[in-house]
Amino acid sequence: MSMTGFIAPLRLRLDEQALLSNWRWLKQQSGDAACGAAIKADGYGLGAAEVMRRLLKAGCRDFFVSNWAEARALESQLGEGISLSVLHGVRDEDMALSKTSRARPVLCTAEQIARWKAAGGGVCDVMVDTGMNRLGLDWRDDLVPQLDGLAIATLLSHLASADEDVELSRTQLERFAPLREKVKADRYSLANSAGICLGREFSFDLTRPGLALYGGIPRGEARQNIAQTVFPEAQILQRRRVRAGDSIGYNATHVAASDMEIAVLNIGYADGYLRGFSGCGSVSIAGRSLPVIGRVSMDLTAVDVTAAADLAEGDWLTLDYALEEASAISGLSQYELLTGLGSRFDRVWH
Ligand SMILES: *Cc1c(COP(=O)(O)O)cnc(C)c1O
Repeated sequence: MSMTGFIAPLRLRLDEQALLSNWRWLKQQSGDAACGAAIKADGYGLGAAEVMRRLLKAGCRDFFVSNWAEARALESQLGEGISLSVLHGVRDEDMALSKTSRARPVLCTAEQIARWKAAGGGVCDVMVDTGMNRLGLDWRDDLVPQLDGLAIATLLSHLASADEDVELSRTQLERFAPLREKVKADRYSLANSAGICLGREFSFDLTRPGLALYGGIPRGEARQNIAQTVFPEAQILQRRRVRAGDSIGYNATHVAASDMEIAVLNIGYADGYLRGFSGCGSVSIAGRSLPVIGRVSMDLTAVDVTAAADLAEGDWLTLDYALEEASAISGLSQYELLTGLGSRFDRVWH
């Protein structure tokens, strides 16, 4: 329910126990390393502040967002021993905010380092690129003079393909490990969710899972240990009879072979339930699976309720959204399935 007391016709049921048990499993897999949490993109769509509040209770102390607007929204939860790192570093436009914030930047470029030093420095993190060619200083550069004078809390790098069985992960590990001898930092951090599954040697001092916290399965090793955390639910707006030969939805992609009953749900692609689910998504109720029929519209989706005579206008249905399966069906990545979830959902924790 929102603060105004309005109950939206669609909601995300969010499972606190699943979130916490996912984090605890990732922490255990991280061995002696601390286990943090990536809560960028509004906690992958769940709501960053609410995710952070819960993980703090469980003992998580290290959080990661992308930019300073995200950091500002979490400022009130920061305190002694809690760290929030801003992965994209500092632009000129960020300096005012960053100097008053208890969050710290992950410096990624020579320009950012110069900017941070010119403003008086202070504790920071540093990202080194070991083969992804995204953000960070090149691991081949002579980093020591570049980083001279910085007080580095965490030296980071990021794995490009940890969700696959390829050589690149080990190559990145072998490029990153020697930096411990060269660059002085309090801690060293390499692994995301998939990286944690690759084994303890990838954990260093601190791991940074995102996807798996929220129920994503980054690699097979996680499948039995990671629980679904996000359950999209939508209300039935209309139940209707469809006659044999009638078509359903935009562009009449489904034509009823025989008389049937459908329920029209208050969810659509504007909510992140994208058209990849047209004709292949489903909802589950009491052990029955009811298929999505025809095209997903902007705000509406039809399901076949012929076999569910009891369902009526106003009832709630839970869309099948186990991320690995939903990804295979829709062609979207598990990340897109989470971060696309829109602002019209009430987010309700259980
Ligand atoms: C997003 C991100 C993570 C988390 O990755 P997952 O694959 O979601 O576990 C960790 N580190 C960095 C630098 C990131 O950008």
